[in-house]
Amino acid sequence: MSQARPAELPAAVPRRARLAGIGGWWGWAVAIPALTLAAFLLALRAGQDQVRTGARQRLVIAEAVLRTTVDRYRSLPTVLALDTQVQDLLAAPGASGAAAVNAKFEAIARASGVAAIYLMDARGLTLAASNWNQPLSFVGSSYAYRPYFLDALATGASRYFGIGTTTQQPGLFIGQAVEARGDRQGGGVAGVVVVKVDLEGLEGEWRRAGEQILVSDAAGIVFLASEPGWKYRPFRPLTVPETDRIRTARQYGDSDLRPLLADGPPDPGGTIRLPSAGGAGHGLVEPVAMPDLGWTLWTIAPTGAAWRQGVLVAAATGIAGLALAFALAAASQKRQRLRAEQSMRLSLERRVAERTHDLSEANARLRAEMAERERATTALRATQDELIHAGRLAALGQISTAINHEINQPLAALRTFLASTVLFLERGDQATVRRNLQRMTEVTQRIAEIIRHLKDFARKTGPEHREPVRLASAAEAALDLLRVRLRADGVAVDCRIPPDALVRAEPVRLEQVILNLMVNALDAMRDVPERRLDLCATRETSDGSAPSWRLDVADNGSGIAPEHLGQIFDPFFTTKPAGEGLGLGLSLSSLIVRDLKGSLTAGNGAQGAVLTLVLPAAEA
Ligand code: ADP
Repeated sequence: MSQARPAELPAAVPRRARLAGIGGWWGWAVAIPALTLAAFLLALRAGQDQVRTGARQRLVIAEAVLRTTVDRYRSLPTVLALDTQVQDLLAAPGASGAAAVNAKFEAIARASGVAAIYLMDARGLTLAASNWNQPLSFVGSSYAYRPYFLDALATGASRYFGIGTTTQQPGLFIGQAVEARGDRQGGGVAGVVVVKVDLEGLEGEWRRAGEQILVSDAAGIVFLASEPGWKYRPFRPLTVPETDRIRTARQYGDSDLRPLLADGPPDPGGTIRLPSAGGAGHGLVEPVAMPDLGWTLWTIAPTGAAWRQGVLVAAATGIAGLALAFALAAASQKRQRLRAEQSMRLSLERRVAERTHDLSEANARLRAEMAERERATTALRATQDELIHAGRLAALGQISTAINHEINQPLAALRTFLASTVLFLERGDQATVRRNLQRMTEVTQRIAEIIRHLKDFARKTGPEHREPVRLASAAEAALDLLRVRLRADGVAVDCRIPPDALVRAEPVRLEQVILNLMVNALDAMRDVPERRLDLCATRETSDGSAPSWRLDVADNGSGIAPEHLGQIFDPFFTTKPAGEGLGLGLSLSSLIVRDLKGSLTAGNGAQGAVLTLVLPAAEA
């Protein structure tokens, strides 16, 4: 039988797959944070771009509003410089002229919404002002040192943002030189008209709109801002000459000009963090230049929303990545499990196929062996039959002398009867002739009987033929074959077999067994003067088994030596001289008895041997 291979059941999750799984987890552990970071950066970038775009749009609007505010009053001083009353007052300063101009300026200022309108002579002394009747009136004050006066004198017009020295109110000063009358061709300047525009309203609007807007001048000093704390402070630390110039012109009053940033002006498009109480002043900074004014408008856009958007997108990406990783891991585990199950099923199927193959091979071998054995048994049976038959012929051979004598004797008698019958016939003794003929018939019958018996005994028989046989008949038949020898040896035979002793047997073979036992007994009694042969049958009924008949064949011969008791049934075991015994009688007899489901045993009696034959009883 081929050796079944040891079980090759795969582990639930193969090692390679487990390693791949671990590798996969490492991959995810790197990929998810990387993806999250990338998503965060992209979202932040997009958010910042959005913030920047919005800031630029608002910046455009803020610039337009500022420019509109500045430009709205641009022509007002020019118009006023052409006014005759103004020119008259400059030509001839006096109380009445001043009163008229004062009233005019006051009315125009109120109507146009400017902070103040005033007129200075060529030396910078204020002759008339819209606030002539207010406590902080400009009338009588000299602003000769103020840049807007000096610029107007020098160039004819000026624009200047600064803190008012009188009112301490900041404003945009728009100056226009007034040419001296009658001196038009010479171009002399008689004075300067100044319109002061209040820009602080814009700051309020920016604050209300939540905008963070600053306006810085050419020196980088913030002068308008949505947050008051940022005003009148430069973005960067100022040099000493710059500080001196601003102080001299009193542009920003008494402001200490503390810088807003330690390291220079803001980087356009970058981020800025200005000092502020409410967390304002931090975000992306976008500038727009107003070159004609020398100003720069700045807006600061908070980036908190962009950061929040980045964090949200990053969180969503991270969660989605984790969910994907888990989903893929679950799917991969399911695939691995299915693969493992399939491989286990295949392995099982393979093993079952191998076992089935082995089994059918073993089956075929077994069938072949059985057939072989059957053939061998049949051959053995045939050989045994031949052997038994040969043994019977051998037994016949052993008693052939006696048989010869058995037939010769009646033949001799027949011859004697024939001779005497002829004489009695010649004598005419009819009665004696008839009696002799009768005797001769009997003798021929006896011869025919003997020959029939011999023929029967010598014929081939098979073990399969069984019939109820009288033990007594079988013993009688054997005794009949031995009659001559028994008589010659002077053996006293005592046969005690009940007529109802019936056994199931093949009659000729049973007779062969009994004949063998008797021949052995006669041989063993050779040296005994008074020979006795006892045949005794008894019925045996032991509990639980079928009834049987026991036949003891006892003699008063030499007996069986104790050391031979275990060997006498072996083939070719004999103690008889060469030429007398083959050593096959008992072994063939026990073979026959075994076939008949009986037993044959040997022992010693008080005198001589006792051979015991037991056969199943048959019903009549
Ligand atoms: P054989 O008669 O050719 O020797 P058997 O098988 O019939 O072969 O007998 C074997 C031997 O058993 C005999 O040689 C003899 O020694 C012994 N034996 C058989 N029957 C008797 C008996 N009745 N008494 C003593 N010895 C016996």
